[in-house]
Amino acid sequence: MKVGILGGGQLGQMLAQAAKRLDIETVVLDPAEDAVAGQVTRHLAADWTDPAALQELAATDVVTYEFENVPAAAVEKLVADVPVHPAPEALVKSGDRIIEKNLFNALGIETAPFAQVDDRDDLDRAIETIGLPAILKTRRFGYDGKGQVVLRSADDVETALEAIGGQPAILEGFVPFDREVSVLAARGRDGELKYWPATENVHVDGILHISRAPAAEVSDALLAEAVRGLEAVMAHLDYVGVLVVEFFQVGERLVANEMACRVHNSGHWTIEGAASSQFENQIRAVAGLPLGETAVSGFAAMVNLIGEVPSLEALEGRDDVFLHVYGKTPREGRKLGHVTVVAESRAALEAKLEEVLAVVGDRAKPS
Ligand code: AMP
Repeated sequence: MKVGILGGGQLGQMLAQAAKRLDIETVVLDPAEDAVAGQVTRHLAADWTDPAALQELAATDVVTYEFENVPAAAVEKLVADVPVHPAPEALVKSGDRIIEKNLFNALGIETAPFAQVDDRDDLDRAIETIGLPAILKTRRFGYDGKGQVVLRSADDVETALEAIGGQPAILEGFVPFDREVSVLAARGRDGELKYWPATENVHVDGILHISRAPAAEVSDALLAEAVRGLEAVMAHLDYVGVLVVEFFQVGERLVANEMACRVHNSGHWTIEGAASSQFENQIRAVAGLPLGETAVSGFAAMVNLIGEVPSLEALEGRDDVFLHVYGKTPREGRKLGHVTVVAESRAALEAKLEEVLAVVGDRAKPS
């Protein structure tokens, strides 16, 4: 069995590592010469539409991806020759915030109020119906808080429009959330579904800082409601693989923000914190294997290493702290690694997390 992966960043790296443990071969396609998945598996350093590279991927048993902005032309070429999971339609739906929110709403999943904004008139009208504060986001290619700007008063309109540079956009009502929560699920080729406990996420400057799982204060009923939503999306897309939906929690409501049709940063804790990781189940799902159990026995937290990798010596050799350094070239705002810590109680987890943050730095606290 051989799995082709579009994208060779850290997600591709961890997918390849999970595949290896299942005795499954991988090959990644990523135009970047230094794509870090290449450190652990065969890497085709070629353009997305390079015929020879696509031919090699087409010769695998199944192709999946870890990067959503793969040109449609490349995916179209592949689907003619090899199964591609999740199906390309999922990329289309998740790649555009308006299409995505319309899908959520059609499936009974609550979102913030939103409106399409293509010009100044649209924005004025949208502000009238949605009110302020609100967030103007580009419809496509936004990630880690990029391509979005908060509007607090009518005075912000001009600068907001300038900031997104005339790209097709969406205005979203500002959700006064208590916390951010993501829910990850995997769906097999036979429609079998497994999900992990909800994860609570803290972002700093739009980039994920800490994930904790299972999220506190997400009742079974609330998680069941979220999973019902994911299940509906997956059934609609005849989805195979891991899907994550990021929600804002407002009291006992979950308001969907966005989804990613791939493994996700907020699920990295599953490597050590759950019986099977998101990476293992992504590989299992696309390869047509039965999904692994997603149960957790304790508590886990993950901290991202952003921009630089500090000395981690003080955390080495522990059986409750796991260091993941991806081998990427340091750059401001870049995800270079993560640290996961596990514990038997929530209180113990918080104490250990403090120890980890003392070593790696707490981006939530100004230094
Ligand atoms: P996104 O790129 O949509 O994931 O947004 C990045 C971050 O901005 C989110 O994780 C939230 O912290 C914040 N954010 C985005 N949209 C909203 C919203 N409609 N209301 C409140 N906060 C938001």
